[in-house]
Amino acid sequence: MPVKSYTLSKSRYTRGLKCHKSLWLYTHKSELLDDEDTGTTARFNEGHRVGELAQELFPGGVMILEDKLDFDKQIRQTAEAMKTAKVIYEATFCHDGVLVMADIMRKGRNGWELYEVKGSGSQKDVYRHDIAVQYYVISGSGVKISKACLVHLNCDYVRKGAIDVKELFTTVNVTADAKEKQAEVKKEIARQKKMLADNDKEPKIDIGPHCSKPYDCDFEGHCWKHIPDNSVFDLAGNGVKKFDLYRKGIVHLKDIPLEMVKGQQKSQLEAFLGKKTIVKTPELKEFLDSLWYPLCFLDFETFMCAIPPYDELKPFQQVPFQYSLHMMKRAGGKLYHREFLAQPNVDPRKELIDSLLDDIPEDACILAYNKSFELGRLKELAEHFPKKKKRIQKIIDATIDLISPFKMRHLYSWKQQGSHSIKAVLPAFVKGMSYEGMEIGDGGAAMEAYHEMCAIADGPKALSKKRKDLLEYCCQDTLAMVKLLEVIQGKTA
Ligand code: SF4
Repeated sequence: MPVKSYTLSKSRYTRGLKCHKSLWLYTHKSELLDDEDTGTTARFNEGHRVGELAQELFPGGVMILEDKLDFDKQIRQTAEAMKTAKVIYEATFCHDGVLVMADIMRKGRNGWELYEVKGSGSQKDVYRHDIAVQYYVISGSGVKISKACLVHLNCDYVRKGAIDVKELFTTVNVTADAKEKQAEVKKEIARQKKMLADNDKEPKIDIGPHCSKPYDCDFEGHCWKHIPDNSVFDLAGNGVKKFDLYRKGIVHLKDIPLEMVKGQQKSQLEAFLGKKTIVKTPELKEFLDSLWYPLCFLDFETFMCAIPPYDELKPFQQVPFQYSLHMMKRAGGKLYHREFLAQPNVDPRKELIDSLLDDIPEDACILAYNKSFELGRLKELAEHFPKKKKRIQKIIDATIDLISPFKMRHLYSWKQQGSHSIKAVLPAFVKGMSYEGMEIGDGGAAMEAYHEMCAIADGPKALSKKRKDLLEYCCQDTLAMVKLLEVIQGKTA
């Protein structure tokens, strides 16, 4: 079958499994796709590196070179390679109007083994569908598949020296599952092709939990545009189900009958309706009484990589490369600022922890916002540097969570829209201070900026701009904490 007639690929098929409308839009109205987020290219490049590394599990294979303009050529090359090669990378097949490229195929005694590589740390249902459609297309092309496997990263692997690919990857045999799915794959392909054949008929599928499961859809900007600000989807916490409200035609927060909600959702709604701020003075006082001086405000920025770049790291382990520390020696005293930002492409952990231990006074109380993140990193540093463990443990023991009063709604403004993230709390209480307009506006962007810093090849000017943006962002995080503590103090004065 000439490839010209293909309508689906494995990624389009899995997109269609999530939502037919998403597949239709992708095929007929791709201009409606959301803008790519900043991490998309980095994730793509990292996925590519994982794929290349996994090929070392089966070395010496024949690479079918990607030629987007000529898939027929790739299919012909694959057929030719299969006559002699033992291993093929990116083997290309087309059957029943579906085009697939198999990451790795190896010739076994009883047929070809199929290996699908994923740069993820676990098995996911969607991967099994991905393999099942490949199984369908390849066996439909007349190739006997003896085994179908998923190859993913082993998150327990700890790098020691050169990467050990056999330890880095976990291989799961999913042959039985792929076979079991064949009848359903055939039916689903037919359904998707029928649906796509109508160029003018966008499927009538409303928004639902499927929009974010198993991953966020990239047409949300299009499908969710009728949802206003302050909608039922801003309701925080468990309780009444947001899609239940939506399906009843209740879309705006103001339209939710108070008797339908309870607990935190009710207090959020009451605060919103009355444009109120909730202040629980005794609880706030108790929080303030738990603090002491010197008082430090600490925030880490971290990066992570699928393939651990340094020794004693696991795949996707968060590595702190930056911190900001504001500090007051006594109540109402002068505010000091300390910071650290690693040089690119060096293991930052030793320099960072040495600097931090120098900067934090021995007997200080430390505030972090959502402390489990900072404590997780400190515990890992304590394990990595046993000689510093005692001192790091002291910091861990002295850390108090500034998110608590906001999370427990001891202080809550209707402007927070149900969120207790610092990005929502700060502008609700501190006029003129927000993350709007900053070059780096969240931890994900900071991680991205660090990766970019490591990849910068065009001179010191670009590097120093990235450093400036990162320092500005992290400093803002701890300064925001200082201001939020002032707000709590002000409410209890
Ligand atoms: S946003 Fe939701 S409804 Fe729209 S295409 Fe995506 S998954 Fe389907």
